[in-house]
Amino acid sequence: MTEQDLADQIRSGDRRALARGITLVESRREDHRLAAERLLDVLLPKAGRSIRLGISGPPGVGKSTFIEAFGQYLIEQGHKVAVLAIDPSSKISGGSILGDKTRMTELSRRKEAFIRPSPAGETLGGVARRTREAMLLCEAAGFDVVIVETVGVGQSETAVAEMTDMFLLLLSPGGGDDLQGVKRGVMELADLLIVNKADGDLAAAAERTASDYAHALRLMHALHQDWQPSVVKCSALKGQGMDQVWDKVQAFRKATTRTGEFDTRRRDQARNWLWQEVSDGLLERLKSAPDLADRLAQLETKVTQRKASPAAAARALLSSFFKGLDE
Ligand code: GDP
Repeated sequence: MTEQDLADQIRSGDRRALARGITLVESRREDHRLAAERLLDVLLPKAGRSIRLGISGPPGVGKSTFIEAFGQYLIEQGHKVAVLAIDPSSKISGGSILGDKTRMTELSRRKEAFIRPSPAGETLGGVARRTREAMLLCEAAGFDVVIVETVGVGQSETAVAEMTDMFLLLLSPGGGDDLQGVKRGVMELADLLIVNKADGDLAAAAERTASDYAHALRLMHALHQDWQPSVVKCSALKGQGMDQVWDKVQAFRKATTRTGEFDTRRRDQARNWLWQEVSDGLLERLKSAPDLADRLAQLETKVTQRKASPAAAARALLSSFFKGLDE
């Protein structure tokens, strides 16, 4: 099958074709990479018409329960929902925080939904690149809400915030005023805070937590001209509060579209992505240049033995590399 055929099938909304397309972009084989690039070229004009939501939160906060409920709510509203995951743990531990258990079983049965776990055994940078590409394929397939989920332990939140339009942070009730160890840097990325589990015995604690966070937010610097991050409560388990979350998403989209930030942000993201690809590509070529291997090893030894400064060694290496290209 040619990439054009696969592209046509993806565009018609065929979920199996979409899954095949994503497998192609996840592959590291050189011929697959080239095929994936051709596929993306064909589909790019059809991509972009979705709202891209990043969702994060500590393990156990209820991310999969929330996406299960929120996704079904959105489908009832006539949307098509794709869920992609970035799981930094799969590289570190070989296991996975997000992927091991059966998650979002109801949502995954719906034909208006598409759920894809994180590619295994990849670096965060690798996962991020492939998730970006998968996101474009989902959009070309007609999914108009794309959710990128990550677990709140590490650098992955920044990666997700950098590829989405809006970043939602899930929190649990309780935890008092230490703000549950959620790092300030992560909170600063959030466009909306959601206190989940606002039900039963936890309802009162959820109320307190929401007001603690609302207070903390007031002390933070605004990221957007016309958008002030706020706190909403929900119960993913009972499917309550999904409408409020969606209202906020729409209000955010409206506000940032009005100021032009929505489009500017996407353009900036595309530009950054380009430069990331350029720098990854250069590094890969440099590390795999056959005649440079010895030189690389020598310079490394010199630097570790403090016989050359890293800056001077890097300069020498780059000049050998580029001289090699000229010849
Ligand atoms: P994740 O690790 O963030 O994906 O969290 P899960 O979605 O797996 O949920 C962790 C636990 O919290 C499960 O036992 C859920 O049943 C429970 N949970 C999730 N959402 C809610 C909620 O809204 N209310 C209550 N009471 N429990 C919830």
